[in-house]
Amino acid sequence: MIRFGPAGNSDAFYEEGHKHTVEAMEWVARMGLNAYEVSFGRGVRLKEETAGKIGEEARRYGVALSVHAPYFINLATDDPEKIAKNTSYFLESARAARWLGADRVVFHPGSCAKMDRNLAFNMTIRNFSAIMNNMDEQGFGDLTFCPETMGKINQLGDLFEIIQLAKVDERVLPTIDFGHLHTRGRGAIQTQEDFRKILDALEDGIGHERTARMHVHFSKIEYTAMGEKQHRTFAEEGYGPHFEQLAPLLWEKRLEPRIICESKGTMAMDALAMKRMFEQAKAGRQQ
Ligand SMILES: [Zn+2]
Repeated sequence: MIRFGPAGNSDAFYEEGHKHTVEAMEWVARMGLNAYEVSFGRGVRLKEETAGKIGEEARRYGVALSVHAPYFINLATDDPEKIAKNTSYFLESARAARWLGADRVVFHPGSCAKMDRNLAFNMTIRNFSAIMNNMDEQGFGDLTFCPETMGKINQLGDLFEIIQLAKVDERVLPTIDFGHLHTRGRGAIQTQEDFRKILDALEDGIGHERTARMHVHFSKIEYTAMGEKQHRTFAEEGYGPHFEQLAPLLWEKRLEPRIICESKGTMAMDALAMKRMFEQAKAGRQQ
């Protein structure tokens, strides 16, 4: 089943008087959404009891949960101290995912700002493989880990690198952030063909079945020469990429990703807009 949902809580959620993520599961389900991403970008601070309540609500309302691991993860290192820190960020995220009943852990692979890209990427592959083994040993072998395509050029995570990371292990699924691919290519996604090339590359790299289940982040993003500048909303004109170009391809290729919207403040509304675009594309094809 293709799923749509927000990353975190929208402005409207708070404006309507809601205060806590526990209430967000019913709120997104009533909008017609069925996914939600909990961000631990600035650290995993969720308590077990709260996570349990959020998880219960998510199951009650049929909302699939994912978590976003801390932004501090940087696998491009051979420093034992930093390797230990990375491992603990993964462990904390996995533990919180377990409490929530979330099945996917999204993470940013790392940076190559201060070193040769190939060297950085080789370290990343090596460290990630070790972390996957560690996750098995700690009893988190059933979680899906989702390395994300990144929006800045000096971050690891172009499409090719994410495909390579997904090949480390069968349980790994890519997080394709189309906004990030757009910005790291300085406006690389303009047409439906640009989307098609990305999907074709994924199918060539990891096969149709895993491509079909991929994790997706979609938002419109402003960029500069260095890549990503800031996230925008669907209501703001002049920013890409355009989901209406991707929607027919998802139906045509029978892909059923989980699509998370990271628009600034309007993530749930924009997730719903994408769901409608997908339904329209589907209806159009079936006639
Ligand atoms: Zn991310």
